[in-house]
Amino acid sequence: RAKAAGGNQVTVYEASMSTLAERQFQLECELRQAIPAGQLLVYLQPQVDTTGRLVGAEALVRWQHPELGLVSPASFIPLAEESDLIADLGICVLRQVCTHIAAGRFPDAPGFRVSVNISPRHFHQRGFVASIKSILAETGVDPRKLTFEVTESLLIRDVDDVISKMQQLSALGLHFSLDDFGTGYASLTYVKHLPIHELKIDKVFVHDAPVDPDSAALVESILAVARHMHLNVVAEGVETPEQAEFLRVRGEVIYQGYLFGRPEPADAWFERHSP
Ligand code: C2E
Ligand code: MG
Ligand code: MG
Ligand code: MG
Repeated sequence: RAKAAGGNQVTVYEASMSTLAERQFQLECELRQAIPAGQLLVYLQPQVDTTGRLVGAEALVRWQHPELGLVSPASFIPLAEESDLIADLGICVLRQVCTHIAAGRFPDAPGFRVSVNISPRHFHQRGFVASIKSILAETGVDPRKLTFEVTESLLIRDVDDVISKMQQLSALGLHFSLDDFGTGYASLTYVKHLPIHELKIDKVFVHDAPVDPDSAALVESILAVARHMHLNVVAEGVETPEQAEFLRVRGEVIYQGYLFGRPEPADAWFERHSP
């Protein structure tokens, strides 16, 4: 086994298995079973405004693998995305989040939302909207407590269908956020046509902004566009006071990053931020 670069997470690597394809296949089988076995855990990371007030949390999945330990999503989300397994995973995470919301475990501050990542393949599925509505109904959760994070790659195909689905869920009060903004395919003109409420500046730009003029310019233009279009901005990957300060003096922004809190298991997170 190999240790991942950061934290105590273990990357999936078993020298005994001969080929990558075999390893991937086995992992996919295990992941399929992991969902009903309850091995997918929801971690939470705080989002705070510039005054330090808690305004939201992002749900980030981890796989508690019986032999490999805690597996990071970077090692299994791409695998899950190769099949409809990603939809089962997305539903599993959303259901856990909704259960926590329904149990009143999150702060009930007005405007507080939980962000859930939704993969393009899941979003594009027929019946996506109906399946979300049924989870909301089943758990009794107010859609105004939720934000769905989608990436620009969602827009590579079926844009009209994507917009229609977003509109149906937006009409209920659910918000949409464009994750990893700046790294992908969508141009700024695209943003205008989407019923989204938030841009998340990718951590690459947040990281470099105080020291790299190109990143600084990009961050500034994202802030300008967001202001113009009345979109919220979340800066992901804020690790240093310099990065936070760079953002604060340039606009309205919500911080998410190690400087304000690492992702941690839901129970620990609720303990720390108990209502
Ligand atoms: P993302 O949605 O862009 O999430 C942000 C990632 O940045 C998370 O990595 C988070 O732990 C990490 N991060 C937060 N603050 C900092 C910081 O200050 N510095 C650094 N270096 N990193 C920070 P994580 O949890 O490993 O998740 C990686 C990606 O996996 C996510 O990127 C998302 O694309 C995907 N993912 C995670 N959970 C889910 C899920 O439930 N469903 C789907 N479809 N994808 C998920
Ligand atoms: Mg995200
Ligand atoms: Mg992101
Ligand atoms: Mg990212």
